[in-house]
Amino acid sequence: QALQKGGDTISYFDIDVGQAHARRAELALKLEQAIEKNQLSLYMQPQMAMPSRTLIGAEALLRWHCDGEFISLAEFIPVAEQTGLILAIGDWVLEQACLMTAEYRRLGLVDLVVAINISPRQFLQSDFTARVEQLLNQYQVPPSAIELEITESTIMDNEQTGILVLNQLKSLGVSLAIDDFGTGYSSLAYLKQFPVDKLKIDRSFVRNIEHNLDDQAIVLSLCQMAKNLKLSVLAEGIETEPQLDILAQYDCDAIQGYWFSRPLKHEDFVRFSEKMCVSEPLVD
Ligand code: C2E
Ligand code: MG
Ligand code: MG
Ligand code: MG
Repeated sequence: QALQKGGDTISYFDIDVGQAHARRAELALKLEQAIEKNQLSLYMQPQMAMPSRTLIGAEALLRWHCDGEFISLAEFIPVAEQTGLILAIGDWVLEQACLMTAEYRRLGLVDLVVAINISPRQFLQSDFTARVEQLLNQYQVPPSAIELEITESTIMDNEQTGILVLNQLKSLGVSLAIDDFGTGYSSLAYLKQFPVDKLKIDRSFVRNIEHNLDDQAIVLSLCQMAKNLKLSVLAEGIETEPQLDILAQYDCDAIQGYWFSRPLKHEDFVRFSEKMCVSEPLVD
């Protein structure tokens, strides 16, 4: 409607676009200082094994607290990617996650695996594997205590480099998961070539699974396929008991979602973990 107005009047559409640009520019400026101003933090969302419902690990999820409010990832990750700030932020996330993993281990939570989201640009940096190795050494974290989450498109958009890096990381001994599985290429032929350990089924297939037969068929197939390819499979976004029951029927290995816990800040996650009794009793 506004687009059809023509002439030299400024349409509502132009104003919207202008405002969106201004907002992005403002975020880019603020994001540049976010690290030094200590505005970034990692929340941890518990992941549980099925059917035992025991805590096995957590996904580290980035939060940006800026001028009294949390800015959503959907808004600032694209800005970070466009400006290249994602590299500094991704490196901060990686280091912070290693540091937190070391801390959990110090507290006796030695069986937890911390999953870290890796952006495409970060993954494709030539020294990425070396950086991971260096941080693991620096914080004395065994490679098996972390898992790197990569999306299919990160690998497939740069197939040769992607497979090379996956193999490097695999030799290092870290666990590798494909994030948001089912939303991208999901090509079985390619999946066979990836040295990955886990598929994370995207929340979009789980959201309505109690009511949607197609989603049931898709998720069941993904679980069976993972099993046949000897991959572990985790379902994201479990919010209700009926959803959990369906995933249990499908023999899904692990789940993550609000039903179990929202992402928690460090202290709350430690308390949560200690309550779940995965830790060795602490001697004082
Ligand atoms: P993701 O990796 O697929 O992470 C799962 C998202 O689903 C998280 O959103 C989480 O809070 C949300 N979630 C988990 N369980 C439930 C549930 O039961 N219901 C609902 N409605 N949502 C649930 P979040 O934290 O907003 O993160 C969004 C995306 O941002 C992530 O999707 C990931 O792609 C990206 N991201 C998060 N942290 C980082 C990071 O440190 N680095 C990079 N590069 N990307 C990150
Ligand atoms: Mg993820
Ligand atoms: Mg995901
Ligand atoms: Mg997702």
